[in-house]
Amino acid sequence: MTDYEIVIGLEVHLQLKTKSKVFCGCSTAFGAPPNTHVCPVCLGFPGSLPVLNRDALKLGAKTAIALNCRVEEEIKFDRKNYFYPDLPKAYQISQFSQPLSRHGYLQILFDGKEKRIGITRVHLEEDTGKLFHTQDASLIDFNRSGTPLLEIVSEPDMSSPEEAYLYLTALKSILEYIDVSDCNMEEGSLRCDANVSVRKKGVKELGVKTEIKNMNSFKAVKAALEYEAERQIETIGSGGKITQETRLFDSARGVTEPMRSKEESHDYRYFPEPDLTPFDFAKNILEDVKNEMPELPGPKRKRFMSNYGLSDYDAAVLVSDKAMADYFEKCASLYRNSKIIANWIMGDISAYMKEHGLTIDRLNLKSEYLTGMLDMIDKGVISGKIAKSLLIDSIQTGKDPILLVKEKGLEQITDAGQIDQAVDQVIKENQKIVGDFISGKQNAVMALVGKVMTKTKGKANPRKVIEMLKKRLKGEA
Ligand SMILES: [Zn+2]
Repeated sequence: MTDYEIVIGLEVHLQLKTKSKVFCGCSTAFGAPPNTHVCPVCLGFPGSLPVLNRDALKLGAKTAIALNCRVEEEIKFDRKNYFYPDLPKAYQISQFSQPLSRHGYLQILFDGKEKRIGITRVHLEEDTGKLFHTQDASLIDFNRSGTPLLEIVSEPDMSSPEEAYLYLTALKSILEYIDVSDCNMEEGSLRCDANVSVRKKGVKELGVKTEIKNMNSFKAVKAALEYEAERQIETIGSGGKITQETRLFDSARGVTEPMRSKEESHDYRYFPEPDLTPFDFAKNILEDVKNEMPELPGPKRKRFMSNYGLSDYDAAVLVSDKAMADYFEKCASLYRNSKIIANWIMGDISAYMKEHGLTIDRLNLKSEYLTGMLDMIDKGVISGKIAKSLLIDSIQTGKDPILLVKEKGLEQITDAGQIDQAVDQVIKENQKIVGDFISGKQNAVMALVGKVMTKTKGKANPRKVIEMLKKRLKGEA
């Protein structure tokens, strides 16, 4: 295995979040009854003419800018010819020689180091219909036919399945920031195919590649690539040859299997789409879109580090999810210690979200509730220990922690008289431990602290308890 290098490139198909389809006015809403969002254009009737959707171009431009691509001045559309039942025109309108943009890149963080993965091209095309196979028939739903798709093709710059996984995660994060797609792999709004080959270390030319399809999660992509790289290395190692082909991943068995031999691009007989004229993309779309670009995860991570003094790791975790980054910043405007906010978000809050399958925007915790609770810890109103259960309580009831503390009488006991009483009792009841302390076992005091805390139901200020215990025990000695 170590004698070989793995070479991976990824093709992502992204359904753009437009209200209507790319060449007609039909709705793109997911989940409608079959063949209800259709018209002569997306059913491929002869004589119907495509009209380009401006919103699809805008979302394409946003993506191109976010992926650091060089945007083409003029773009055009081409017909990609092939025959398949889900494609009623027998050609797909796509882009071949003048796509939206090329030569971009995306940064991934691997082992704490930044690596740049090249983006070959980003182009706009239309989706096909969807086939359903029953026992005795194949059914077609054309609702999806003509939905705008963006194809994002990477350079073969990834050298492990782990890097491919990180690339997809980083790409999804960017796409969510610019809000161009739902990026939902289960509903098919983000689909990924992988090209993979292996070569002996030191060899310059690329090995024969296979294309892997049918992966329905980023984890499945990683698993499929791990299997396929291993299979190729074993095949070559035992004197065999790799066939250029498309293979399907079977996630239940964790294997890839041949589907069909891969077409070359000339098999598609690309030629210019005569019904759509070349379009001045730079002038008509790009200028508008430039002003609408939000801050992207990369620059945001750097700003979080310099503005809030966060570590690279903390900043990367927080910005990986836009809603989480927004939540953090809201809290940081209300409470001065950003590191403590980050710790709570990445610690107890993330653990709760993970356990309940929630995202932060669906979590019932107002930013002012979290910071109000942190203030109470600082002022000694509640202990850090109480705060942990108070947080969960607040999330589950939707109530302000300040209110909950009053309702449930959770205020920390700072009143010396009350603590004194508990200390008294504990000393009386635990003469053996007291003896240990007096005979020189300094640690014995912690056992007593624990008992005082139990007696006060965790509400005594532990620092005060230690202080008072020591004073009392030394006085008695
Ligand atoms: Zn239509």
